[in-house]
Amino acid sequence: MTTRKALHLNQESKTTTSVAINDTICCGNTDLWIVAGPCAVEGLTQLEQVSQALIKNGVTSIRGGAFKPRTSPYTFQGHGTEGLEMLDEMRRLHGLAVVTEVMAIDQIDAVAQHADVLQVGSRNMQNFDLLKALGTIDKPILLKRGLAATLDEFLWSAEYIIAGGNERVILCERGIRSFDSETRNVLDLGGVAVLKEKSHLPVIVDPSHAAGRRDIIPALSRAALAVGADGLIVEIHPVPDKSVSDASQALSLDAFDNLMQELAPIANAMGRSLVQRQDVSVRA
Ligand code: PEP
Ligand code: MN
Repeated sequence: MTTRKALHLNQESKTTTSVAINDTICCGNTDLWIVAGPCAVEGLTQLEQVSQALIKNGVTSIRGGAFKPRTSPYTFQGHGTEGLEMLDEMRRLHGLAVVTEVMAIDQIDAVAQHADVLQVGSRNMQNFDLLKALGTIDKPILLKRGLAATLDEFLWSAEYIIAGGNERVILCERGIRSFDSETRNVLDLGGVAVLKEKSHLPVIVDPSHAAGRRDIIPALSRAALAVGADGLIVEIHPVPDKSVSDASQALSLDAFDNLMQELAPIANAMGRSLVQRQDVSVRA
């Protein structure tokens, strides 16, 4: 390690860096960055239904995995490039920004061609070669915290990307492993507060993978906004129980409408806007 000050650390002023997602929206300003969509891209009909729910709620960004990191090699691994093309179609038809995972260096070109934001999943948070490669591209990176990573390890992973020249890094707290099996993981909201203190990078929260169950997602989302998160990434599905992956945590489209209504006053109380303004002056 060199002795120079790490690039992820806060400056004196403690202002959050605003990361441009595309040329009209960004993450880290007073507008919250809300991303929602299915765990996995399953088909165009599914994405179209999800997109309508996003548009109705003023949400600018869709998520969906085309390359899926699955615990078992025998479960659905994602539609790959075909899935990326379906996400692209949602951008073309509806102007939605696309967030999707990249799992390996040899997927970067294809994912970067179709996505606005490349997601590094928890299981790859310390895949240093992948991080280094992402440091050389000109697209924002959504870096998810590893399942058992300390906050410092998380920030040093962000450093790998920034050190390569790509300063557009957004951190995502998605729950960490613990001993209680009531929830899939434990949402570390204290960690979000620490990250906001320590680093200038925007921090969003994924209540879905933290909870692993849909009933507590509204409560975790409210808490995330109240603790100062810069946004949320939530799994939603037109028929949650039919979801090919992570069915138990997927919110229905109606539940997503309710969630957005419930979050508006909390966003306001925090001096943030839940609906993102599309500002043509954002510098990508
Ligand atoms: C996901 O967002 O689809 C995902 C696999 O999340 P994580 O890497 O946090 O488990
Ligand atoms: Mn998932």
